Amino acid sequence: MLARCVLERLPELLLTTALACLLCALVALPVRGAETEVGPMPVVDLHVDLSYQANYRARPFARGLGQFVAADLIEAGVVGVVLPLFVPHDVSPSGPRLEDLDHSYARVFEWLDNTPPYRWPGCYPESGQAVRTWLAFEGSAPLGERPDLVRWWVARGVRFFGLVHAQDNRLASSSTGASGGAVGLTALGRRLVRQIHALGGIVDVSHASSATLRDVVELARQARVPVVATHSDAAALAPHPRNLADAELALIASTGGVVGINFHSRFLARGRSATLHDVVEHIRHVVRVAGAEHVGIGSDFEGGIRPPPGLETVRGFRPLARALVAAGLSVEDVRGIMSGNALRLLCPSPPFEGSSAGLVHANGRHRGEARSWKTP
Ligand SMILES: [Zn+2]
Repeated sequence: MLARCVLERLPELLLTTALACLLCALVALPVRGAETEVGPMPVVDLHVDLSYQANYRARPFARGLGQFVAADLIEAGVVGVVLPLFVPHDVSPSGPRLEDLDHSYARVFEWLDNTPPYRWPGCYPESGQAVRTWLAFEGSAPLGERPDLVRWWVARGVRFFGLVHAQDNRLASSSTGASGGAVGLTALGRRLVRQIHALGGIVDVSHASSATLRDVVELARQARVPVVATHSDAAALAPHPRNLADAELALIASTGGVVGINFHSRFLARGRSATLHDVVEHIRHVVRVAGAEHVGIGSDFEGGIRPPPGLETVRGFRPLARALVAAGLSVEDVRGIMSGNALRLLCPSPPFEGSSAGLVHANGRHRGEARSWKTP
């Protein structure tokens, strides 16, 4: 009786089962997709040269060259950016001066004030609709004779102090300097680095020679502070003086620091045009050598770089995050790489007292005031 009943109802049962399976599959689809699909992924970029484009190339701060466009930032997931106050080495016969740093700062502050969604420098609470900013130096020679001014710059929101750019200076040797990088920190450089560390600032070793990097790491260990390389790639994958050897990557990690991966094709691949896959491979390499918690993004957008196809602008951040997950990195690690690791350095908790990691840097609170601010 039961068998006959089942037999009679077999087509109906099969149909019901088939419908149930189809429903299961439809419900499961988005779940399966979520395993490789990355949701909203906040991004903090450790190095964007908008101040150079706006101050020295007469390009609008809101657009630059079109790589880091203010109107695209929120949709691209950008929640923070480090803006170096870059001054070209030939700005005067004696190189960059204190007044050049002042000038750059005053103008950048005014642009930040007038350009949504940017906020003034500092660790504001995250809001989702604003981009936090921090300042940096890419060449700190003007401070060599005046280490007392570090306190002033830290109060203005300078978080990272790059000692050198493409040339050697009186503080240290550059990875592309005339000395061939044999000299590390000079006595002047040593004194300045100690002062930066004492005030909670972080030294940036992108552009530094190997000898300089080692000297900085040694002083950072003594002071128990991290070292950052804001925009540098792995020399093991693409030999270039600007890239970091595995031992150097490990040294930076040993201080608790972070290496921001640079999107410039010449640093990513040798003898050919780089692809987005090369960026993924550099990140995976640094993860292997230094650990996932020591990798970040330092695109070098607006710094005259030639990024790979698909990463020409901030719109490439989301595909990059997806590619990293597809390459086998955990979503948690990718989240750290895209923003969390950078924030650990930029906004340490609890904040270092009196340092640029403090909450808010409202210098020039009133519009236009920054323009008249001069280093004392
Ligand atoms: Zn640079």
